[in-house]
Amino acid sequence: MATNRVQFQRGLSMSEFFERYGTEDKCRQALEAARWPRGFACPACGGAARSVFERGGMRYWQCAACPHQTSLTSGTIFQGTKLALRVWFQAMQLLTQSKNNVSALELRRQLGVNYHSAWLLKHKIMQAMRLTEDGRELDGRVEIDDAYLGGERSGGKRGRGSENKVPFIAAVQTTPSGKPIVACLRAQPHTIEQVGAFAATHIAPTATVISDGLSCFRATALVGAEHQRVVTGGGKASVERPEFKAINTLLGNLKTAITGTYHAFDFTKYAHRYLAEFQFRFNRRFNMRTIFHRLLRSMLQAPPTPEPAIRTAEACT
Ligand SMILES: [Zn+2]
Repeated sequence: MATNRVQFQRGLSMSEFFERYGTEDKCRQALEAARWPRGFACPACGGAARSVFERGGMRYWQCAACPHQTSLTSGTIFQGTKLALRVWFQAMQLLTQSKNNVSALELRRQLGVNYHSAWLLKHKIMQAMRLTEDGRELDGRVEIDDAYLGGERSGGKRGRGSENKVPFIAAVQTTPSGKPIVACLRAQPHTIEQVGAFAATHIAPTATVISDGLSCFRATALVGAEHQRVVTGGGKASVERPEFKAINTLLGNLKTAITGTYHAFDFTKYAHRYLAEFQFRFNRRFNMRTIFHRLLRSMLQAPPTPEPAIRTAEACT
């Protein structure tokens, strides 16, 4: 069973983690190898020739072909950090290997940093996950549904139209027999325009989309995806329909992962990132041994994002 494959696979154990990334030096080496897998490449000109020097305890790479100097972290989401790399790595390990989401408060306890640092760590890591998942496109058989963050979902559609909840669209690509493969979750209103925008970005024109009767999901037809509408009467029965098993399981897992982990306030402000965090992990749930390294690469590809940018709320439009 797929669930067991996920639950019983070998992840990156804590002892392996500390063997690989237990010291600042090891983290630096891992970062360098992940950033320049084929050796140094100048971020400005791509040149390979360089010299290395140290200044103020920091190591810099000086390109031989142009005046560009770079540190290991400059130009990445690690840029400007005052925290040790091994603290970052430990946060990344906790966020990728835990079954459920890990709050900033929990990070603070586990890492021994203050709450402000823990919160920023968490949100910068989530931001990198989000950028990696931004272009996710689903194809084949796709179940799609509307849902709300921060509210009850059991009982079907009770959340629809509720105040103080964040509406989002959830879609999951499955095998022909309905086993979930990859998912895409986006915080946005359930209007025809917004579902159309979601479909244009995240659903391939060749996909077969299965949704319930909510009219806005007809918008998926706009991008050419064959839209198979399964009309449900709402309530508990609709949640149990086999056509929607993958999406309902996914929404159930999302709820379990976040229940009791976060404050409702954070949801309304940073829903995009919380959903992306769940999505990043879900889409790599069969690869628990490589998910850490994949996250490391995402962190290196994410541009520097200073605290004011991290704290800016994004409207769910
Ligand atoms: Zn250069």
